[in-house]
Amino acid sequence: MTIDAADLKRMFDAIAGAIEADKGRLCQLDGVIGDADHGIAMALGFGAVHDALASLDLATTEPTALLNTAAKSFLNAVGASSGPLYATAFMRAASAVKGKATLADADFNALFQALAQGIKDRGKAELGEKTMIDAWQPAAEAAAAANAAGKTLSESLEAALAAAERGAEATKDMIAQKGRSSRLGERSLGHIDPGAASAVTVIAAMKKSLA
Ligand code: ADP
Ligand code: MG
Repeated sequence: MTIDAADLKRMFDAIAGAIEADKGRLCQLDGVIGDADHGIAMALGFGAVHDALASLDLATTEPTALLNTAAKSFLNAVGASSGPLYATAFMRAASAVKGKATLADADFNALFQALAQGIKDRGKAELGEKTMIDAWQPAAEAAAAANAAGKTLSESLEAALAAAERGAEATKDMIAQKGRSSRLGERSLGHIDPGAASAVTVIAAMKKSLA
């Protein structure tokens, strides 16, 4: 499968739609261990990406430029901590596919790895600290393994989604150690991390739109 700028735009539009539909649940999850704005922040961010990409001429826009546009608009729209995390992810993804007019499966895998690594580098969270990294890192590892085993992009994203779902579920048993919810200490136990939950929504929309 080959992915071009139009496919990437469709992917971001799918993410924006899925996040908008999930906004209430994400705010609810954040209301339990944070400040109840995560759904709003993510919807504002991906809504801004949707609007920014709508004004691009896709025939003359390379994936790198599209991803940098996504990064800039997400960062400008989001004041919450998810803003710089996803903006860095998209900027790193842009670098990962620099100079390519279209993306083969392996290129998209590189883009996906860069997303997760960007969030990790920006937020400095490790596995088990109850953040979106607990969904993104296993997802990236599953995608890399599937890609290395010669699986199709669709199969790789399916493996990534399953890993992200397991990772998000596992945050229930973790004590928050990064961000706002870390102030709760042990009281964060028993609740899913909202950023890990939204990561699952993002990855599910990616998979659906690219399958
Ligand atoms: P804020 O906490 O500023 O209100 P959001 O509500 O948008 O921001 O996002 C909260 C989510 O951000 C958390 O559920 C967590 O997944 C993620 N997060 C917070 N800090 C970090 C970090 N340092 N690294 C990775 N993810 C983080
Ligand atoms: Mg919040």
